[in-house]
Amino acid sequence: MAARPAVAKPEATRLRVIIRAMRSRFPMIAALAFGLGACSHGAPPPPAHEFDGTAAFEYLKTEMGFGPRILGTKPHEQMAQWLDSLLRRRADTLVVQAWTHVTAKGDSLRLRNFIARFNPTATTRVLFLAHWDTRPHSDGPNSKNPKAPVPGANDGASGVAMLLGVADALKRHPPAIGVDLLFDDGEDYGDFNQEPGDVLIGSRYYAAHPVPGARPKYAVLFDMVADKDLQIYQEGNSLTGAPEIVSLVWAAARKVGHQDVFIDAPKHTLTDDHVELQKVGIKAIDVVDFDYPPWHTPEDTIDKVSAASVQTVGDVAMALIRLDGT
Ligand SMILES: [Zn+2]
Repeated sequence: MAARPAVAKPEATRLRVIIRAMRSRFPMIAALAFGLGACSHGAPPPPAHEFDGTAAFEYLKTEMGFGPRILGTKPHEQMAQWLDSLLRRRADTLVVQAWTHVTAKGDSLRLRNFIARFNPTATTRVLFLAHWDTRPHSDGPNSKNPKAPVPGANDGASGVAMLLGVADALKRHPPAIGVDLLFDDGEDYGDFNQEPGDVLIGSRYYAAHPVPGARPKYAVLFDMVADKDLQIYQEGNSLTGAPEIVSLVWAAARKVGHQDVFIDAPKHTLTDDHVELQKVGIKAIDVVDFDYPPWHTPEDTIDKVSAASVQTVGDVAMALIRLDGT
């Protein structure tokens, strides 16, 4: 993308004439010619550091202001309305999936997935996702108060804030490929040790109810991406299910200078939303910093997270979109 303005129009025209002559014998050149056409007539390229981590962090603060976003509560409903109105003003199309989920205990809960679509008719698409609900109980290994709700600064708010920053960047400079941003509900409600345990509900619903049009060629889940001490290792189920996408994302991180955060080594293996997408054949990976002592505790609060970390992951997400196919 950075090379776009360097291609002077007369040169591009001359190249196109040569390419036209060669096109019939070399089909690959036809694809190159298409690219040059886009260069000489396309919009100006987006700036190199287009993701605004400071603005994205403001979204995180707004989320925290609602209180814990637990299924069936007022803050959960307020958050849904906020997401809906915000995404409607940014996306080309907003798909809202709304349904009732009956829990293992027999409670009926209203859930919603929000799918913000950019360039919805493009056949080459990528999917980024994050869960927007938060956990009702602090039952993590470091919790001293298991009955308290998890505030969810990192586990919930961070991935959403990052995706909203991506939505802002795509509104300013529309993508050449199709991009779907899935804000999924009900990831963190119940018990991860039961099957099915009222967890990963939204991603399972999305997997069973595909949106119209082309399937994403890959999906990246962003979960717990704002720890002040951000270190992202490669996750086990991602390496097993979609190793080529792990390589792609870590290569993008190197290209934008974040190889110090995106560490080229495996560490944890997690049951997370990406597993539900893998089950229906989507090449999905998890970008997650699981070395986070306040995980599933009342201490998952805003002082543990930073705009700088959201910026780092946002830079990588934007690089995946802008560098796709280049
Ligand atoms: Zn969680």
